[in-house]
Amino acid sequence: MAITAELETEVLDKVPTGILIGGTWRDASEGDTLDVEDPATGQILKTIASASREDGVAALDAAVAAQENWAKTPARERGEILRRAFELVTERADEFALLMTLEMGKPFAEAKGEVTYGAEFLRWFSEEAVRTSGRYSTSPDGKSRLLVNKKPVGPCLLITPWNFPLAMATRKIAPAIAAGCTMVLKPATLTPLTSLLFAAVLEEAGLPAGVLNIIQTKNAGKVTGPLIKDDRLRKLSFTGSTEVGRSLLADASEKVLRTSMELGGNAPFLVFEDADIDAAVQGAMLAKLRNMGEACTAANRFIVHESVADEFASRFAEKMRALQTARGTEEHSTVGPLIDQKSRDKVHSLVSDALEDGAKCVLGGKPVEGKGYFYEPTILTDVPAGSRILQQEIFGPVAPIVRFSTEDEAVALANNTEYGLVAYVFTRDLNRGLRMGERLDTGMLGLNAGVVSNAAAPFGGVKQSGLGREGGSEGIEEYLYTQYVGIADPTAS
Ligand code: NAP
Repeated sequence: MAITAELETEVLDKVPTGILIGGTWRDASEGDTLDVEDPATGQILKTIASASREDGVAALDAAVAAQENWAKTPARERGEILRRAFELVTERADEFALLMTLEMGKPFAEAKGEVTYGAEFLRWFSEEAVRTSGRYSTSPDGKSRLLVNKKPVGPCLLITPWNFPLAMATRKIAPAIAAGCTMVLKPATLTPLTSLLFAAVLEEAGLPAGVLNIIQTKNAGKVTGPLIKDDRLRKLSFTGSTEVGRSLLADASEKVLRTSMELGGNAPFLVFEDADIDAAVQGAMLAKLRNMGEACTAANRFIVHESVADEFASRFAEKMRALQTARGTEEHSTVGPLIDQKSRDKVHSLVSDALEDGAKCVLGGKPVEGKGYFYEPTILTDVPAGSRILQQEIFGPVAPIVRFSTEDEAVALANNTEYGLVAYVFTRDLNRGLRMGERLDTGMLGLNAGVVSNAAAPFGGVKQSGLGREGGSEGIEEYLYTQYVGIADPTAS
């Protein structure tokens, strides 16, 4: 698709500029606004309302008011709204993709991939909505009947990050709708436009007023803080950094609020001596370059057997060298800009420190000069253990490679992190692959696969990568609670 300036304006014009409360789009109560920037040019794309503290409370009021009727709405009806939303998003895939490219920076083709992935949560949970049945049984002593039922948890606060503007929203909104929960969504300040357009699509699909309320804001803590301490809120679902997640968990403890936390990662990518190196390089490209490396699942440490490390590094570098860094709207773009100056500075400081520690730079290694926040696809080899780049989320197109000689050493290196989201393992030995699943402390494992994200699978981490799962049949459980009714049977002897 040829992307013209007119097309960009057309898509941006479709995005509502207000906050959404109780089915009404309106300005923020204090008239405050926020600017959304194009990270490829630094230019302002759109100015939209920025919610105040009062707006946050009004959004929760609306969610609370809508909860009872929404919970009573038949599951089939809720599922059909999701199904219609799936069809509308799919029909308008180009529009959503272009909007994400503009506000987040990813190349258009990748943004189309996110539309498919994000829409799949709508389809998946439209099917799960009608499959939340409980059970009926007789107690072991025969004196009572046990009725176990699943009920919606109630009004939820959903907080999403900037890196997958559509999928991170649908991964929470779709199961909440399916379960019968109402919501207040606070999208990331850097990329709120996709959520606003998606909310308009949900209205078109028939979502009743008040079920989804949106409060984009420049003052995240100030606006969401009072909601987390409000007795009427029943659930917090957060996707973002471990640092912010940790502080939200502390806040949530005051009311013993139910939480789901999808936090940061530091994924190891293990290549064993028996791996198919072509497949490993292809997997590495996906695991490292998807979203310019700005993904919680991004391979952060390449741990490669010493016998294949040089071959892997040179073939990986060959593929990376062919990438084209350009604004995501350009047809030839395969690597877009990083989200902002702060992120690019952080990536560069990690690279600089690794080089000072003694790493060798095989490719790239610096910011791209000119407009936008581009960074060169980079490969570092011989990165010493203890280097900061092996401990922190890089969130950029930078691949540090370290060598290992034994399986025990590889496992020790891989597990040497406070994170536990995902690991990737490349080996032709199935036994070894399964053993790695047993030995690696992560919530997910890509076995000879560079991508694990799938709406039908339980996504989530262990250790400081989070609590709970999104997607799969587990995803809807996060928005349900179990109620048990004990029924005495007076006729039982
Ligand atoms: P972030 O800085 O933690 O922000 C995430 C969200 O939290 C944003 O909406 C942000 O609002 C909001 N926020 C920040 N401080 C807050 C506070 N004190 N109270 C309430 N809300 C607050 O993370 P990010 O930079 O957007 O996203 C990148 C991080 O997300 C990475 O660590 C990545 O690994 C993680 N992530 C994890 C997953 C997963 O599934 N595990 C998926 C995607 C991303 P503002 O935008 O206004 O700051």
